[in-house]
Amino acid sequence: MGLSRLLRPAQGRHAVDEVVEPAARELAADEREPVEPPETPVSPRRLRAVPPPAPAPASQGVTTADVIALANQKGGVAKTTTTLNLGVALGELGHRVLIVDLDPQGNLTMSQGMNPDAIERSMFDVLVHRVPITDVIHRVEVDIAVASIDLAGAELALSALIGRERALEKALVEIRDRYDYVLLDTPPSLGLLTINAFVAANGVIVPVQCEYLSLRGLVQLENTLSMVRENLNPDVRVQGIVPTMYDGRTLHAREAIEILEEHFGDLVYETRIRKTVRYAEAPVKGSSVLRYDPTGPAAQAYRDLAKEVLDGAQAREHA
Ligand code: ADP
Ligand code: MG
Repeated sequence: MGLSRLLRPAQGRHAVDEVVEPAARELAADEREPVEPPETPVSPRRLRAVPPPAPAPASQGVTTADVIALANQKGGVAKTTTTLNLGVALGELGHRVLIVDLDPQGNLTMSQGMNPDAIERSMFDVLVHRVPITDVIHRVEVDIAVASIDLAGAELALSALIGRERALEKALVEIRDRYDYVLLDTPPSLGLLTINAFVAANGVIVPVQCEYLSLRGLVQLENTLSMVRENLNPDVRVQGIVPTMYDGRTLHAREAIEILEEHFGDLVYETRIRKTVRYAEAPVKGSSVLRYDPTGPAAQAYRDLAKEVLDGAQAREHA
């Protein structure tokens, strides 16, 4: 398959107004000490599920969440970082957001200050035992459906079940009218958990690390997505590609972006998520970068990305 045919064209996504700041400026800003985030001790109290928000009143019409899977079978490309920070940025803009941890490693769960080993019920129980998803939703910066190490057994347990690819789609039905955005953080594989995410989603956002650009990996991802479109969810498509860990000082990173844009055109978001240690520091504090360093460029980058995602959603509605 030719790379130009790799992904369907973007449907009129608008560009963001903001221009990406020059690398030098960001680096200077990056030297600043971040403001200490408000102290939010991680206590076992947190490990109780909370009720989801009430559905919007009927007078406002029925809303259905936009379900977006963050996927790339390569590990370490910022799927989890993007799920959390994009989710929190959408929340800041007033949207009701649920983020879902579908990775047995539970990094998303940890990045909100919870210990996956101390969690009683998780997405494993939701997918395999049909426990209502509301039982595993915790409210931290945004609502989060948590993972535990059990999830590692989910693929095997699901594989014997009828409707194994639709377990997540089914689980989301009861809360789809209570959120505006549901973001799914997937594991680094194209196995059954990721397939469940593709079946439940309307769109897929692919974070791509500018350093180790793997176009072959993206072809594989699109092949899996084509299979899902043919058999399980005709509407799911890649809605955007986010270049992450971008270091504009290196020719290599700039070339990686050029290659991406050459092959995927409009699908590549204009926001570049630059490389900075802030993204690794924040989760240690159980915090998004938007709370950890609210005025820094790292937080701003995800606010810019959120605007681009919203513009894309609007363009689709009016298409
Ligand atoms: P994935 O979920 O794809 O495996 P993660 O979001 O866990 O990737 O990110 C992998 C590692 O890289 C984490 O330690 C994270 O803190 C760090 N990281 C994420 N985004 C950036 C970035 N823009 N710059 C520097 N480090 C980053
Ligand atoms: Mg991850």
